[in-house]
Amino acid sequence: MTRPFVFPGLTTRVVFGHGTLAQVPDEVARLGHSRALVLSTPHQEAEAQALADRLGDRAAGVFARAAMHTPVEVTEDAVAAFRAAGAECVVSLGGGSTTGLGKAIAVRTGADQVVIPTTYAGSEMTDILGETTGGEKTTRRDPAIRPEVVVYDVDLTLSLPVGLTVTSALNAIAHAMEALYAPDRNPVIEAMIRDALPAFRDAVPVLVAQPQDGEARARALYAAWCCSTALGYVSMALHHKLAHVLGGSFGLPHAETHAVLLPHTTAYNEPAVGDLLKPIAETFGGTAGAGLWQFARSVGAPLRLADLGLKETDLDRAAETATRNPYANPRPVSRDGIRQLLQQAYDGQCPD
Ligand code: NAD
Repeated sequence: MTRPFVFPGLTTRVVFGHGTLAQVPDEVARLGHSRALVLSTPHQEAEAQALADRLGDRAAGVFARAAMHTPVEVTEDAVAAFRAAGAECVVSLGGGSTTGLGKAIAVRTGADQVVIPTTYAGSEMTDILGETTGGEKTTRRDPAIRPEVVVYDVDLTLSLPVGLTVTSALNAIAHAMEALYAPDRNPVIEAMIRDALPAFRDAVPVLVAQPQDGEARARALYAAWCCSTALGYVSMALHHKLAHVLGGSFGLPHAETHAVLLPHTTAYNEPAVGDLLKPIAETFGGTAGAGLWQFARSVGAPLRLADLGLKETDLDRAAETATRNPYANPRPVSRDGIRQLLQQAYDGQCPD
């Protein structure tokens, strides 16, 4: 029987292809804006400057200080730069860190956002903003946070290092995994996920061998769009909670943390969700948790929290922090259960 559902509609305009960066000036004009502040990390400043040159009179400058987990001090400087330049919208060129800065400016100023994602992290389709102040990370959802336009240019992902290609893809698959059992899931998101999983399974091994393969890059970026949409339109649970705790309170790197946790959070919830994780098991083989672990190992992903800088003595505190406030999850979240999950992820064992 078809399940009842609500499909909220997709509000973001999406442009996808090779060389679509050339369309950014038209997209800014289409929004009715004549001055755009271009954002990037320091690492991608040259690309941001080239985009500002391409925008010509529509460029209000470049702010190239985006940083992981959106520190509020950086946002305050960026908002001042946005206002001083008389900018009307932001153009965010980069991964989740740059998209996060654009969202933080937008929620404070009402600016429209054109986002050009260059990783698979998937912030671009969401109404979620995580920010850090004084070492504390807080996350909120607000319709004003969701970008107006996303321009996916496959060519910009050719330079994504192999390590980040792998971990960022697993980060994206984590959104799909939790969306499959989300109480507010819907058939549109499910169809996108069923498209995305084999696309990542087939593209990532090709990219590990040939990072410049344009067709594999296109498949991976398409899959990233599907997974970002899943993240942006249905609820997340245990996996995202744990990644948030390890990133926000223990300073672990974002994509790598998602990559290491994914097989373990999947295996934890798998017995509680009937056949909802079957698309993952069918795509990667075995049970969903073990299949993802084998896939992660085959593409050289990090497998152990121990290798990401977490100390074994931190595991108790991580389990405590992650279970302090109750939240919806298919399988009850107990402190001991999460402590055991974290130990497995710390050791890097294949989940049962
Ligand atoms: P990132 O944006 O921090 O990028 C990592 C590094 O890779 C940066 O130096 C960046 O400049 C560089 N880089 C990015 N794309 C590149 C490319 N194509 N070629 C060469 N270098 C490139 O990393 P990320 O994993 O994309 O994003 C992580 C951040 O995004 C975290 O802060 C996370 O919380 C946030 N995030 C938020 C959401 C949301 O919905 N709010 C979703 C996913 C991630």
